[in-house]
This record gives sequence, structure tokens and C-alpha cells, in this order.
Amino acid sequence: MRSDLVLLPPVELRDEIEEKLFLIHESIRKKSELRFLCLDKMRSLESYVDIREGSINHKHCFRACIIIRGVGCSWYNSSGCYICSYSGKQFKRLKAIEYYEEYGKLLYDQFVRAFKKIDWSNIPILCLYNSGSIFDPKQIPVESFIKILKTIAKTPYIYEVRIESAARHVNNDYLEILNHYIGSQKKIVIGVGLESSNEWIRNKLVNKNLQVSEFEYASSLIKNHGMELCTYVLLKPPLISESDAIKDSVNSILYSFDQGSSTVSLEAMNIQSNTIAELLFKQGWYNPPWLWSIINVLKNVNSNCKKDQYISIGGLRIVPQPQAYSKNCNECTNVILKMMREYNMEHDYDTFMNKLPNCNCSNTWSKNLKLNKVASWEDWNQKLDSLLSLYRDI
Ligand code: SF4
Ligand SMILES: [Zn+2]
Repeated sequence: MRSDLVLLPPVELRDEIEEKLFLIHESIRKKSELRFLCLDKMRSLESYVDIREGSINHKHCFRACIIIRGVGCSWYNSSGCYICSYSGKQFKRLKAIEYYEEYGKLLYDQFVRAFKKIDWSNIPILCLYNSGSIFDPKQIPVESFIKILKTIAKTPYIYEVRIESAARHVNNDYLEILNHYIGSQKKIVIGVGLESSNEWIRNKLVNKNLQVSEFEYASSLIKNHGMELCTYVLLKPPLISESDAIKDSVNSILYSFDQGSSTVSLEAMNIQSNTIAELLFKQGWYNPPWLWSIINVLKNVNSNCKKDQYISIGGLRIVPQPQAYSKNCNECTNVILKMMREYNMEHDYDTFMNKLPNCNCSNTWSKNLKLNKVASWEDWNQKLDSLLSLYRDI
């Protein structure tokens, strides 16, 4: 069942709040000026490689993450999501388009170096990311993408390949290329960011630049090509209360499942550098969600999950290391985090809920939730004014 509507600002305040958020974000971007990527720099870049826990058919296994480093997300290059901390780590586009052939070669070489570092005999899952969209030819030229797929195809140990793309870059051509080169022998899962099914939260509070029609089109293409869709849903973007955040995540997860997602990754907000959330956190005006809130979202949606629809809990431990994570009290945080990691592998909802510790902090969480403690939208409007002046003075 859908939760109640989330409390949005009164219409007369919306334009003002939107504009202030935008100005603060632009100030952050200006201060952490993105560097242009030149070919010399590109030659020295290495992909990020990491072996993490994963699961196949609810059984523990390992997965290898390769994060290719090249030009960054196209959307961050022109504006970017307010929750994204890629400034400072991302590069702007190469200045000249003719560099792209050489860029593509260097990108492929970088991938091969990373790929060879991994002993695939015990790793059935490859997560291939680029801190942006794999399907954007400006980020990964198509020729390089095909060469990457051919390399993956030669490794029979890899059973599943996970990639990420913004919905707007998902198209028939790319999906056919994927199916042609690896579709017959490997399971393909495509991660797409939705963040919220609420238009105002998604495009004004998060600045996702995404219409639901784009998301729905992308999800139908992915399903029609026999691939799995993993949708990223955010828990607790800045400026909304803990209880509204829970409602919004519940609504967004149910919407994602309706659209055919096989998995929803519930991304609990954390505090990353160079984001509006960081500024609010430093003022004491914002905290990442409680772990109890994540659990509450699971409780609210579990009965609506059909067979073969799962929720994974994300955002708990990520790279780059955030300044603050979702947590409870010192007594139960680590216990619950460990349980969440197990839940992500086994998806055994009943065992997870039955084993949860009875910690007193759940009473504090529950009281806060009932009070729905958050600044009024008028207060937020003033707080954003003071953030703007503060940021200008730095
Ligand atoms: S689409 Fe992803 S990578 Fe791009 S700005 Fe948004 S969160 Fe960052
Ligand atoms: Zn506790």
C-alpha cells in the first residue's frame, strides 16, 4: 500500500527554495573547479579495483568492482545531482573531440590492466562502473565498450555483469550490443538511478534531471532485452523529515517494482564532501537516516515484493569514504550493519527481522519520528539564505 503524500513546500515558496538550492550547488561546483582531462593525464590514470561481498541465488560469493576513470558524468559536467560528490574527482570532457579515438584506446588499456589484476576463478560477478553512464559514448566510446565486452566474454568464470547508466542513455543500440557480445552466456543487470518517484523531490531537491517517462522507457527497454533492472532509490534527501523520507522511499520502491525492477537498491544518504548535505550537516541541520528508518522501509514494502523482487541496502559503506553514515546508537550500529550485509546476500527477510536486537535507541527513533521533527519550509528558506551568505564569505 502506498504511504501518505510527503509534505512538500507551499507553492509560493517552491521557486525560492529551488533557486537557493541551485545557487548553493553552483557555488560548490565553482569552488571545486573540474579539471579538463588531457591525454597525458589519462595515460597515468588507473581504474579503481575492489573485491566485495556479493550473492548469486541468495548464496554468498565475491564480486569484483572495476571503476573505470575517464571523463565524468555528463550531467555533473553541466550541473549535477545535489547529492553527488564527484566534483574534485571527476574530469571535464576532453577539449577536442578528435582526441576521442586515443582516449578510447587509453580507456580500454586501463580496463585491461584492472581486469588482469583479478583472479576470476573464484569471482562470478563483475561490477563494471565508470562513476557515470556506461552507455554514454562521450564517457566510454562505443568501440572501447565493444572491446571491453569481448574481453569479458572470454572469461567463462564471470556469470553476471552489472553496469550502471542514467536512464536517458539507455537505448536499443547499446542493449543489442550487450546482448550480442555477452548476453547469451552471462546474466546482465543494469543499474539505473531514480532516487525518488516524487517529481519535486527527484528534480528539485536532488536535481536528478530525470522525467518518469525517461525512466519508464529505459526500464521497458531493459526488460524487453531480457536483462534485469536494478533501480537506485534514495533514503532521506536533505530538507525532508525522517518520517517523510521513509514515506518517499516506500512510494519510490513500490513504483520501481511496478515498473519491472527486479532489485531496488535503497541508498541511505551519507555525508559526502562538496555537497549541500555536507553544508547542512556542518550546521547541525541534517543527519543521515537512522538504521531503524531503513528497517522501517523494508517492513513497509516487504509484503508487496513479488517473487524474484528484492531490496538491497546500499549507501552504508561506499567509496569515496563519506564523513558520516546512516547509524543508530553505539550499542547496536555495528550489529545491525553486519546483519544488513548478511541480508543483502541472503535476502532472508524473516531471519533478518527476528534477529534484530532490542535496543533502547529504537524508542528515541520512534519518538522523533512521531514528532516529525524538521524545520518548517519557512525556516528552511531562511536557513538556505544563511548558507548562501556563508558560502559567499568563504
Ligand atoms: S547522475 Fe550520478 S554521477 Fe551524475 S551527477 Fe547524478 S549522482 Fe552524480
Ligand atoms: Zn541502539
